[in-house]
Amino acid sequence: MICLVLTGGTIEENVSLYERNKPYVDIVELRLDLLHESSRSRASIFPSLVDVPVILTVRRQIDGGVYEGSERSRLALIESSLDGDFAYVDLEDDIKRSAPEHKAREKHIRIIRSKHDFQGMPSDLYHRIAKISAKGEIPKLAVTPRSILDLITLFRVRTELKDVQEKIILGMGDYGLPSRILYKRLGSLWTYCADNPVAPGQISPQQMKELYRADRVNERTQIFGVIGNPVLHSFSPRIQNPGFHGINFNAIYLPFLVDSVRSFFILAEMLKISGFSVTVPHKQQVLPYLGKITREVKQIGSCNTVVRAKNLWMGINTDYYGFIEPLVTEIDNKNIQSALVIGAGGAARSVVWALRNHGCKVTIINRTIEKAQQLAEETMSSYDSLEHASSYSSVDLIIQTTSVGMIPDRDSDPIPDFTFNRNQIVYEMVYRPKYTKMLQRALESGCRLLFGIDMLVRQGKHQFEAFTGYHYPKRLEHSLQLEED
Ligand code: NAP
Repeated sequence: MICLVLTGGTIEENVSLYERNKPYVDIVELRLDLLHESSRSRASIFPSLVDVPVILTVRRQIDGGVYEGSERSRLALIESSLDGDFAYVDLEDDIKRSAPEHKAREKHIRIIRSKHDFQGMPSDLYHRIAKISAKGEIPKLAVTPRSILDLITLFRVRTELKDVQEKIILGMGDYGLPSRILYKRLGSLWTYCADNPVAPGQISPQQMKELYRADRVNERTQIFGVIGNPVLHSFSPRIQNPGFHGINFNAIYLPFLVDSVRSFFILAEMLKISGFSVTVPHKQQVLPYLGKITREVKQIGSCNTVVRAKNLWMGINTDYYGFIEPLVTEIDNKNIQSALVIGAGGAARSVVWALRNHGCKVTIINRTIEKAQQLAEETMSSYDSLEHASSYSSVDLIIQTTSVGMIPDRDSDPIPDFTFNRNQIVYEMVYRPKYTKMLQRALESGCRLLFGIDMLVRQGKHQFEAFTGYHYPKRLEHSLQLEED
């Protein structure tokens, strides 16, 4: 089930919050600590105003809530609110033999026994859950994984406690996000979502239901993802998930914040992950774990896509193909014979190797000239310093591969003195914003433009093919655009 945490200040606000999210949620949690004081006494009417089960919670500050009164008044508020038809009441693990507890039992309201850890993971995680469950209550454990190893410990709940049918387990924070989305794989009864997050890592119910379709995950669902650090901003879930849905492929694609690639491969085995995209800074670090790589991965020395192939992991580089695709015909027709590549980082490596393999003459310019020299020597290209960009104003193609111009640095241009001419093609790899300062100048000079976002989508479509064996559904392609910033 998907649970909406109601964060409104009044009963009426919470009813409209529920109405707005109704298509996405199965259960709601009324947080009395977030209600204005004047509205709290009316909490008992709330369950009669909505048509889903309601959890009653008054969260203390030490557990991430905002309730400021005394503990006695908090318990009294819970007790009086239980006059309403709540389905569940959330009581903290350390509250023993309280009046709300007795009243809940009398009224057959199920007790959720919760424990929050905002610092890390309790060492007696499994024991705690088993103990609460033995008392006939529903254990809820919200912990904070700080690494992939912690996330592994969390996902082991499923096997360690497979006899505990009713439990709510979630990992907060960025490392915990996969546990929120794959809540069914943890054996958790539900996952918490909010329009305005009140706990670290919460996402909106609409994202949970429509983007991830988390409630549809079953034993046969294949898991895919993207690993990186940072990674939560990644656009890839918005390419892959709708694609899976579009071809009725039972799979989910989610972001994994990864501190250690080695640990991630352990998690990948444990969750039987079928494949994943790789982003900065792990594109080289995955190489030692791959049993098979393509020629491009070997040349470039980096891999952005890993798929399970029988009993080994296979690495491919879809940046290579996503980049070169719109240029191949022009290169074959000799309309493009020379290229200036700005930058010598990871993205530039795919670009230079792709151009070189297609027979195009390349000059690399970079802020750190030694890096340009190294890449040029590997690929039999030429190199120069960034300041000499103007000397190459007659090339057919200019490719911008540095991060200069990327939000929030949108007023920067890596080659401000370069004069474009209308016969040139200008290819920008930065995708946010779509029109960088450099591209705007190229547009004013009448150049043909190629955009970073389109390359991102093309490489994502290649990943989709590697993951599923099917083409990306054509009818969805028009929706693969970023909102303009
Ligand atoms: P990277 O390996 O860190 O390389 C960064 C490059 O930018 C280096 O050449 C670096 O020069 C240069 N650079 C950074 N700051 C600079 C500055 N202030 N002035 C001049 N040069 C500067 O990063 P990457 O993986 O290649 O990614 C680069 C960009 O490409 C990012 O914006 C990324 O989002 C984008 N990208 C887009 C796609 C796509 O599908 N559209 C795919 C991959 C990457 P030094 O060597 O001197 O440090």
